[in-house]
Amino acid sequence: MHETARKVVAGEVHAVSRLIRDIDDGDSEVPAILKDLYAHTGKAYVIGITGSPGVGKSTIVDQLISHLRDAGKSVGVLSVDPTSPFTGGAILGDRIRMQRHAADQGVFIRSMATRGAFGGLSRSTRSAIKVLDAMGKEFILVETVGVGQDEVDVVGCADTTIVVMPPGMGDDIQAIKAGVLEIADIFVVNKADLDGATRAVNHLKGMLDLDSAKYSDGEWKPPILMIEAVRGRGISELLAAIDQHRERGQSSGVDVAREKVKEELLDVVRTSLVGRCLDYLESRTDKSVEAILNGESDPYTESENLINEFVSST
Ligand code: GDP
Repeated sequence: MHETARKVVAGEVHAVSRLIRDIDDGDSEVPAILKDLYAHTGKAYVIGITGSPGVGKSTIVDQLISHLRDAGKSVGVLSVDPTSPFTGGAILGDRIRMQRHAADQGVFIRSMATRGAFGGLSRSTRSAIKVLDAMGKEFILVETVGVGQDEVDVVGCADTTIVVMPPGMGDDIQAIKAGVLEIADIFVVNKADLDGATRAVNHLKGMLDLDSAKYSDGEWKPPILMIEAVRGRGISELLAAIDQHRERGQSSGVDVAREKVKEELLDVVRTSLVGRCLDYLESRTDKSVEAILNGESDPYTESENLINEFVSST
């Protein structure tokens, strides 16, 4: 077994931190270590939390950590923020808020920021989840800003996905409608103390009712919870909803597991393949670019040629 893998399984925090940084940097030793870790994974329960900036995700995460620790569970947290350096303050804010858990051995918190190559964000988050799983964390909370497809993919690899909404809504819900709403297992309207929280709940109910046919055959219908994270109100109910969803997932059994493994496998194939292909082609595109510029060819033909060239080189 790789030395780093051994240390991770033994729960050595420094080794885990270093490995997660290497994953973020795309270090070439990482795949060999992940191979060794795989047999030690599969025990953690992964909870994804997404929503617009400022909606209260890290406040909720902070509360969930407290509740889970009170119940004697170990917790890992990945805070994924792929947004520009201009919002770097948000990452710092998260860290400060969660700092009160920093001295707790049962809690491990890391931020990940690198988008990296194609699909890099979801792949590196998946890998980091595996690392926290192998180190023995029972619950892994993955917090991300719900804006693009990459972020949807990130929370999509969770066992239970929570979409957090602000009170009021309207524009907000339009902005994150695509993709994010479909992945919600649980909706949370946060800031119940502010005007418009009930309106937001009703708005979401209306949207789910439009899809009522989908839920009539016993499919999980996402509950809509109203909470006030700053004061910890509604967090127990949120954990109860997570438990219910977990039980449902376990009873749906092998098919769900097979689907998840397939997704994970294809995710790795997709990113490694594209990465290898682009590396190979990097220095070989000049001729194609010239041909397109001269009007002798087009990007579709050239792309086919280049991919064929890559395939026959392997
Ligand atoms: P994030 O960007 O989604 O992680 O949001 P934060 O957790 O950083 O919260 C953004 C702001 O909303 C902070 O000032 C929080 O104190 C505040 N906030 C979080 N939960 C509540 C709540 O239940 N009610 C009110 N009024 N403010 C809240």
